[in-house]
Amino acid sequence: MARQTGPVCVLCRREGMKLFLKGQRCYTPKCAVSRRAYAPGEHGQTKKKMSEYAIQLREKQRAKRIYGVLETQFRRYFRAAARKKGVTGETLLQLLERRLDNVVYRLGFAGSRPQARQLVLHGHIMVNGHKVNIPSYLVRAGDRVSFAPSSRELEMVKSLVEAAKARSTPPWLEVSPENYEGTVLRLPSREEIDTPITEHLIVELYSK
Ligand code: SF4
Repeated sequence: MARQTGPVCVLCRREGMKLFLKGQRCYTPKCAVSRRAYAPGEHGQTKKKMSEYAIQLREKQRAKRIYGVLETQFRRYFRAAARKKGVTGETLLQLLERRLDNVVYRLGFAGSRPQARQLVLHGHIMVNGHKVNIPSYLVRAGDRVSFAPSSRELEMVKSLVEAAKARSTPPWLEVSPENYEGTVLRLPSREEIDTPITEHLIVELYSK
């Protein structure tokens, strides 16, 4: 299964913002964006005007990096969004939000999306009582997402669930940490997705 590899803080510095890919470290002064708030590389501190294409490309790259999706899969999401009724950009974001790894993260069961992806891949997560180890699995309204019974005894899982009690959950999800589970109440509307993405720029890029 394809995934992003290599150092991740460099991705945040390239995008010029925190993408929260490392969990707790992202909230500390050790965060690379806090320490070096400029792009990586030899010319990272050189300011240059971006073309319209470059702005659209950056927006798409940022969305891919936030959700941990590679180009081929991202294009697939875009094509699926374009086929559906409604505003393509919003549907695209909704599809990305419906990914199981994102939902585990949004429920507060993981400190970052990469960690949520690991939990799913390692078989710790169930959907409606069945183990699902596919991070790109798309949840539906009414789905129950929970930790597998065998995983609930793990100290790592206990501390993640404990941390989830202090995290806020978006209104389209409901979390019940004491039961190690959460529910997808409905699919998210655009206003309920706080990802810093200007989706129409992505639509413009792919529509060229
Ligand atoms: Fe990004 Fe987190 Fe690294 Fe900061 S610590 S640069 S937010 S991944």
